[in-house]
Amino acid sequence: MIPGGVNSPSRSYKAVGGGAPRFFVRGEGAYLYDVDGRRYIDYLAAFGPLILGHAHPALVRAIRQAAEEGTLFGTPTPYEVEFAERLRAAIPELERVRLTNSGTEAVMTAVRLARAYTGRSKIIKFAGAYHGHFDLVLVAAGSGPATLGVPDAAGVPAAVARDVVTVPYNDSEALALAVERFGSELAAIVVEPIVGNFGIVPPEPAFLEAIHRLARECGALVVYDEVITAFRFRYGSVMPMLGTRADLIALGKIIGGGLPIGAYGGRAEIMALVAPEGPVYQAGTMAGNPASVRAGLALLEALQAPGLYDGLEAKARALADGLLALSDRYGIPLQINRVGGAFSTHFTDRPVRTYADAEAADGALYAAFFRGMLRRGVLLPPSKFEAWFVMVPHSDADVAETLAAAEATFREMAAAPRRP
Ligand SMILES: *Cc1c(COP(=O)(O)O)cnc(C)c1O
Repeated sequence: MIPGGVNSPSRSYKAVGGGAPRFFVRGEGAYLYDVDGRRYIDYLAAFGPLILGHAHPALVRAIRQAAEEGTLFGTPTPYEVEFAERLRAAIPELERVRLTNSGTEAVMTAVRLARAYTGRSKIIKFAGAYHGHFDLVLVAAGSGPATLGVPDAAGVPAAVARDVVTVPYNDSEALALAVERFGSELAAIVVEPIVGNFGIVPPEPAFLEAIHRLARECGALVVYDEVITAFRFRYGSVMPMLGTRADLIALGKIIGGGLPIGAYGGRAEIMALVAPEGPVYQAGTMAGNPASVRAGLALLEALQAPGLYDGLEAKARALADGLLALSDRYGIPLQINRVGGAFSTHFTDRPVRTYADAEAADGALYAAFFRGMLRRGVLLPPSKFEAWFVMVPHSDADVAETLAAAEATFREMAAAPRRP
């Protein structure tokens, strides 16, 4: 009925040994419950949008109120103005901001704006980076397509693919060469400032500076795709952590409090090009709908609780340290890249700093780990490329239970006959 049984390909278990994925019916706090009533500790966090856990009371209240008072008006509302102001208070670089329904739309429009502003058509993106599912960024795209082995560009016209220059992440030299060759045609360099889509991969020192310097030299804009990173590691953008400032920023996932949303914004003179003020068209029947926006407002309020991000980091550190100690004990090669409350588990001996490194990690070991953890009531992302996200309701007991499940799984993996 539904192609592959899923409404988004990353939900399939194709990359972790196949078979039907688990079906879930209910979430509460740190837990998801499957159709048989079994409880799982959830680190998938819906691939990134969830940070307060499932059915957080403040979000339930906001969504219930929106349901009672109308979920869609097709008119401006005071909620969206307040939300835009709160976003700008958190991210001052969002001098002006527009809401969309998804991260895909946000990045897509930011790129369209960059093209309009510069009058150029090419973009640089980084190998393995995922920026949504519009044509331009499905050229050498990341986790979803790469995991499933679907040709990146099936259905994407060759003419579109010719406008995309792909460079390895964390490779300033390759970037400089690409800019030397295509700089005069370049509208934007699009980048996740901290990669969240082939694992968590932080930028190496000077990599982001190189992006900004080269973009400035050739007259291209820098677009930060912060659909995963914003509000994940701190309240706001990661730009202050990294000491950089993008021209345009795309948001999504977390900011909707679990309802569909996206947003893009940045320098006022660029945003002035957006219709109806300017000639760059972007629209959406559902964009800025009261339900998503009121959930987003409640979410931003809750995220300002003192110590929230330190708490996420402490739990993620305990998990990462525990997993590394256990993998060491059982002789299983494991690299953990962690930033704040998010980390990735790559089964390899080599550090992961590019997509090629992530690709080289052992998918069969990850599949065995995923399945072992699932059997023991821990839900991980069904792909070796995706990150674990710690959520506010994860307790120390959940961390301990997760590490006990990992120990049993590693023991089982170490005892399994070596694959040829
Ligand atoms: C998820 C994601 C997107 C796409 O967002 P959707 O809401 O799924 O369309 C874009 N960029 C990044 C970095 C993402 O992780």
